[in-house]
Amino acid sequence: MRTPGKVWLVGAGPGDPELLTLKAVRVLRAASLVLVDDLVNPAILDFAPPRAVVRHVGKRGGRLSTKQDAIHRTMMQAALEGETVVRLKGGDPLIFGRGHEELRYLRAHGIEVEVVNGLTAGLAAATGAGIPLTDRACCHGVTFVTARTQAGSADREARDWAALAGGGTTLVIYMGVACVERVADGLLRAGMDPDTPAVVVVSATLPPQRSVRCALSALNATVQREKLRSPAIIIIGPVAALADPVRTDETAFGLLPAAHTGQAPACV
Ligand code: SAH
Repeated sequence: MRTPGKVWLVGAGPGDPELLTLKAVRVLRAASLVLVDDLVNPAILDFAPPRAVVRHVGKRGGRLSTKQDAIHRTMMQAALEGETVVRLKGGDPLIFGRGHEELRYLRAHGIEVEVVNGLTAGLAAATGAGIPLTDRACCHGVTFVTARTQAGSADREARDWAALAGGGTTLVIYMGVACVERVADGLLRAGMDPDTPAVVVVSATLPPQRSVRCALSALNATVQREKLRSPAIIIIGPVAALADPVRTDETAFGLLPAAHTGQAPACV
């Protein structure tokens, strides 16, 4: 009988390959099968050996997505056949990435599995926009939240918005631009100050990364006017005031010299 292999759930970070951990690179170099999610920069696959089989299982880019249970079974089967499986997920595998479902499934089936952290997009986005997520003077915490699971009963949703609006922490919102109107309305109706600074960061760490700052009351209009599309992170809180009004940064990967748009501030 073959010695069973192992599955590594590896965070690919927000995009820039230089933000991978050394451990992620080491594990990728040993991979025999790589299962790649959406939002993983294809350049990261250069670290996998040429003999490794690479399968894209995400749903963007016109490809059909692979159902989650099919991904589970593929990983399990490959591990049982002795493969070294790397499951590459954008950002960190355990932040809004279903990484724990995969971990649980594999452990329940007796498969050895290990997680390698990646830099989550919310952290990279803040740095890309030039803002700290906490500040001794005004902000003592951070809340990472997805805009997607806010749906549910109206009651429940109102409570969630109230907790977010009144929590006093910097809000780092994932998957928010497609439903930005609902996000902004929810926070405003829950009593958040309409002048609270907000910043939207698109394609953090990838060329061309772009960030736009505005007030919470202008968030929806700004996203529509500037055509800010996924992948994007929305950061809301006093620290967002520290971001440049508009910043287009093509220096990621060191490909191009620093270039600022010179445009007038979008708002605020
Ligand atoms: N596990 C990932 C999050 C997956 S959810 C992580 O830890 O980062 C997908 C969402 O992440 C996107 O809708 C977007 O909100 C955010 N995201 C991922 N990559 C991004 C990037 N390079 N720039 C901005 N947002 C990004």
